[in-house]
Amino acid sequence: MTGSDSHAAADSAEHRRANRTKSSPSTKTAPPAPAASSSATSGGSGAASRASLTPATPNGLPAATHSASRVVTLPTTTGEPTLPRPTPAATTTSGGTTGEPIELIHDEDFKIRSSAAIQAFSEIGDSYAGNKKIRLWGEENLILRGKQGYFNNIKNIYLKNTFFQNAFRLSVAKIKKYIKEINLIKPRVIYTYVHSIYEMARIIKRYKLNITSVDSIITTAGVLTNKMRNFIENIFKCRVFNFYGSRETSFTGISCKNSNKIHINMYQKYIEIVDNNGKALKEHNAGDLIITPLFNYIMPLIRYKIGDKGSIDYNPCSCGRGLIRLESVIGRTVDIFKNKRGELIDGEYFTHLFYFLKNIKRFQIIQEKIDEININIVTFDKNQFKKSIETDLSSKIKFVMGNDCKIVFNYVSNIEQSLSGKIRYTISKIS
Ligand SMILES: [Zn+2]
Repeated sequence: MTGSDSHAAADSAEHRRANRTKSSPSTKTAPPAPAASSSATSGGSGAASRASLTPATPNGLPAATHSASRVVTLPTTTGEPTLPRPTPAATTTSGGTTGEPIELIHDEDFKIRSSAAIQAFSEIGDSYAGNKKIRLWGEENLILRGKQGYFNNIKNIYLKNTFFQNAFRLSVAKIKKYIKEINLIKPRVIYTYVHSIYEMARIIKRYKLNITSVDSIITTAGVLTNKMRNFIENIFKCRVFNFYGSRETSFTGISCKNSNKIHINMYQKYIEIVDNNGKALKEHNAGDLIITPLFNYIMPLIRYKIGDKGSIDYNPCSCGRGLIRLESVIGRTVDIFKNKRGELIDGEYFTHLFYFLKNIKRFQIIQEKIDEININIVTFDKNQFKKSIETDLSSKIKFVMGNDCKIVFNYVSNIEQSLSGKIRYTISKIS
């Protein structure tokens, strides 16, 4: 998901803030700094505060103050207040709600806010900035290039104290190697895909391996069932926290120590649960989850039907946080594929290959046999689908499945949704 991107955004946030501070006084339309305007509001005595403003400094801004009684508001500009002009930061794509890949633009502000939210909410899951972390993560480029690149490696290890392990291609030997690495690195936290850590836990149990103790495990992408959670917690002897987010809307919430329900990031997301007719449902009634991110002005998503189902609990959690909670979220299920060498390939690897392709309405990748994969594609215009794309997809799939894997492209008029209303992007008939 967007974890690594968000951290990258956080890294450069300081630079941007520094630049903004330098340049904003000279521009009439410069947006007020969010921190300053919010502290003015929380001061609660606007007129009195403004009366006690300290004289402006030579650069036109009031001198900094540090007490609530001397709350400062920025000088007002003439004309209508201006919103910050959003700066496109990244394009992301997703499988979308109905299986149709969609392309979204996230602005810088959204990325920074998302990154900050991930940082703040991760503390609910006992993960703190600077603590040593392992990311058992999926990155198709990591597989295709074989490495994440020298500078990324240096940045992750030395600046973020984070070590990466590739979750997209797991064999028993690879998992054993990762377990050794974890014992050597002794991370405080493991960020991981649900299926990846579940497989690792199974290997630890099957081969009676030792595993170092960690403070917590934070899982994402995939449905964390109670059975899986209990199993992983028993093996790793720590709490497992369920992190919920999506490529479209970024971070949405995380469970806490006292409750497996997901505490919603209400500062940045507005959540609704509706029935099949779009009618709002009451507390504890499960329905379609509708998310409205409150930022990303460059391309707002309003009442976005994310494609997951769940219900809401408005009662405050015993942990003391006043956030509403999502209960029983039923999200996208991703199958795990297996190749002839016995390696497990996370289904996300295949879906990611389709994300940036144009002209695809829906797709579904089915492993029929150990060496046969069928790809069903609904295109907008079949004539526009180039042979070179097939060739490229085939080579990337063969890269993980083996050169003798048979790959069949089927251009179909429709792909049925599952009973839950979701497209199953990946189906493996190999158990
Ligand atoms: Zn709680």
